[in-house]
Amino acid sequence: MEVRSFKGGTHIPHYKEYTEKCAIEPMKVPPEVVIPLLMHGGEPNEPLVQVGDRVTVGQKIGDVDNFWNAPIHASVNGVVEAIDVFPSYEVDDRVCIKIRTEGEDHAFKPQMERDPESLSQEELRAIIREAGLVGMGGAAFPTHINISPRSPVDSLLINGAECEPFLTCDHRLMVERADDLLAGARIMMRCIGASRCYIGIEVNKPDAIETLKQKTQHMSDMEVVPLAVKYPQGYKSHLIKAITGRNVPRGARSAELGCVVRNVGTTIAGYEAVVYGKPLIERVVTVSGPTVPKPGNYIIKIGTPVGFALEQCGISDMEGLKVVQGGPMTGRAQESPEAGIVKSSTGLLVLPPELAVPRDISFSDCVRCGKCVDRCPMFLYPNYISLYAEANMIDQMLEWDALDCMDCGICSYSCPSHRSIADMIRCLLPELKNRQKSIY
Ligand code: SF4
Ligand code: SF4
Repeated sequence: MEVRSFKGGTHIPHYKEYTEKCAIEPMKVPPEVVIPLLMHGGEPNEPLVQVGDRVTVGQKIGDVDNFWNAPIHASVNGVVEAIDVFPSYEVDDRVCIKIRTEGEDHAFKPQMERDPESLSQEELRAIIREAGLVGMGGAAFPTHINISPRSPVDSLLINGAECEPFLTCDHRLMVERADDLLAGARIMMRCIGASRCYIGIEVNKPDAIETLKQKTQHMSDMEVVPLAVKYPQGYKSHLIKAITGRNVPRGARSAELGCVVRNVGTTIAGYEAVVYGKPLIERVVTVSGPTVPKPGNYIIKIGTPVGFALEQCGISDMEGLKVVQGGPMTGRAQESPEAGIVKSSTGLLVLPPELAVPRDISFSDCVRCGKCVDRCPMFLYPNYISLYAEANMIDQMLEWDALDCMDCGICSYSCPSHRSIADMIRCLLPELKNRQKSIY
């Protein structure tokens, strides 16, 4: 079997064994959900409901007239209890719509079954925008923007690498919902005008590779590509290089290389939105960690408090635990049990201390070992960039290409001084972007 990869990156323990065999199952619906107005890259939504309003599953509850935005929907039936600032998955607290659930049945009931072939590109994109789809692999960029490329695109790349440790939600989706994934891929191909689709999967998921190879064996325009197990194999530019051999120059958009990359979960959500009119109101989340009594891959309603989700898995108290929403390399440390599961929550992890992402930025001394430089997959100098970050020297950070940082977390993971390099860069991103805008 030919296995493709990219130059650089690093090998880290997988820790997939806790959940890779756990079939997807629905989690109990919580007594209340807390849905942030902003959980995508773009502008925050404006609430479309008021305190006291009764809402139903799938109802749009937040939107704004802006192309860069993805609307939000009620994930449960219930009553709007508050629109206020609540703890969030991000470092900053965010305005959220809190809904008290009512009744027992919170399943989405499709009112239609559409044939995607009967819809134009514009209609498909509009449906996907209305459904509030965002990149569910962590980036949370609105999907309708991704599938409206300005350059001609020949290839859709489905990212089934799932290269971060612990996470297995995409793995299970590829095994259990392969037909829906392929149907979603056809819809995405139509949206972007691609003639080929590649599904890149790391070879530590042999059952997913086998399943999808069987399903696509008579499809001449779809190919399953086995990938080396390496971090960050699933990052856009590295995936494009590994699968197509095309180099993505710094700052270039993938569409300029003729490619659009979509995550497995997003592609299936696209299928559900187009065919059944289902908005993004729930997702599969890997709940895992060596001390979690009932790890698994759970369908969780958006806005479910992390404390409630952990309780369903046997952890009744988060106090003193290292809890992360997302993967251990790029996720966000969670301190409040009230913070809600969001559209990009790939995982809810209880990590051993050596893998925990520190919430407070650490300014311990750089011992100049060079490990971060050796391992940075973007060939940056995280050591210098972090020193400038400490001193808030934005121009110098830009000179050392800090804006090319892909937030993979390898530098922080590799640093023997436990310097929170990736967090330092992430925290200064808004300033970096503003400064760059003012220069050019
Ligand atoms: S987080 Fe940024 S600087 Fe650190 S290794 Fe990844 S790309 Fe390089
Ligand atoms: S890994 Fe840490 S200690 Fe080593 S050079 Fe990079 S920042 Fe300095």
